[in-house]
Amino acid sequence: MSVIESALAQVKLLHPYTPGKPVEELERDLGISGSIKLASNENPLGCSDLAKQAIKAASKNIELYPDANAYYLKQKLADKLGLGAGQITIGNGSNDVLDLVARIFLDQHAEAIYSEFAFLVYPLVVQSCGAKARVANALPTDRNQPYGHDLTAMLAMVNDKTRLIFIANPNNPTGTWLQATELKDFIDAVPGQIAIIVDEAYFEYVDQDGYPDTLKWLAEYPNLIVTRTFSKIYGLAGLRVGYAVSCTEISDLLNRVRQPFNANTLALAAATASLEDDDFVVASRNNNQLGLVQLAKYFDARGVEYIPSVANFLTVRFGKRCDDIYQGLLQQGVILRPLANYNMPEFLRITIGTPQQQAVLMDRLDKLL
Ligand SMILES: *Cc1c(COP(=O)(O)O)cnc(C)c1O
Repeated sequence: MSVIESALAQVKLLHPYTPGKPVEELERDLGISGSIKLASNENPLGCSDLAKQAIKAASKNIELYPDANAYYLKQKLADKLGLGAGQITIGNGSNDVLDLVARIFLDQHAEAIYSEFAFLVYPLVVQSCGAKARVANALPTDRNQPYGHDLTAMLAMVNDKTRLIFIANPNNPTGTWLQATELKDFIDAVPGQIAIIVDEAYFEYVDQDGYPDTLKWLAEYPNLIVTRTFSKIYGLAGLRVGYAVSCTEISDLLNRVRQPFNANTLALAAATASLEDDDFVVASRNNNQLGLVQLAKYFDARGVEYIPSVANFLTVRFGKRCDDIYQGLLQQGVILRPLANYNMPEFLRITIGTPQQQAVLMDRLDKLL
């Protein structure tokens, strides 16, 4: 038997995550410049100047290991969120935290539940633990959150083997969201021994009445784990830093399986400084709101269907023309995200850009539509 044959079956069955095409790669392939990438839900405004200054200062101590306990970042988050620092677990991006949670609850006897069209990291981390995934059908297209999580269908999948449930609010790649009342009713109905992750990667972008403040529920539900990230509105995707908020007991378990130095010195410094810059967050949110409205109007005027979104992207149904539009835009230096690997081959996901980037996108799209 070869060494490859002895690798775990669940690992050999994994499909690697497909990221958005990097700008450098497109420009190298086509010999062009000035391209724009609206493919990975990155912040088109960059990151806070305070973060850049903090990175510069922290780079003087790069020969030293990072602070394994992320003391300053946890303190600052705890103050800001009104929680104890002991409830926070820092990850190398929030994907790292999703993986850590899976590792403390899932093995080959366990099951995890998530929705159809949910974030692709969920199947990845469930399968790599050897656990069984139960995938609930998404809401039908005639509902007001089309393709969104159907909490009733998810609840119906709970059984004796269920150990973990993933909920993205808002969800990527659909941009759909769940109201406080329906989400709280769901958490209430799930047996207390089952861990529930509410993934709030786009939390800071959401501007909707009725969107839940889940951190307020932590005291009532020790099985609730909320994850957030510095990759999206804070614009630090390249540094990899995110976090989980939970009861202190779960946080303690997460800290046992976590690599001791999973978040690096520059990431910790930049994230800590970012929390000081509310103006940057407000500017990013405002740019996003305007961009979402602009794109929605653009597609409405052309009779192109999209999924109403509260996040920093819009998922648009181009139907059979999808691949031609993706390729046609690439040739013109605009990168969007195809969703075939989400089983949504008729859709492209568009990250909201700066006004200039949006103008370029709409101009190039007009030539194709
Ligand atoms: C982008 C994203 C994340 C965050 O990824 P990081 O590892 O923090 O960069 C988590 N969940 C969802 C649903 C996302 O779209």
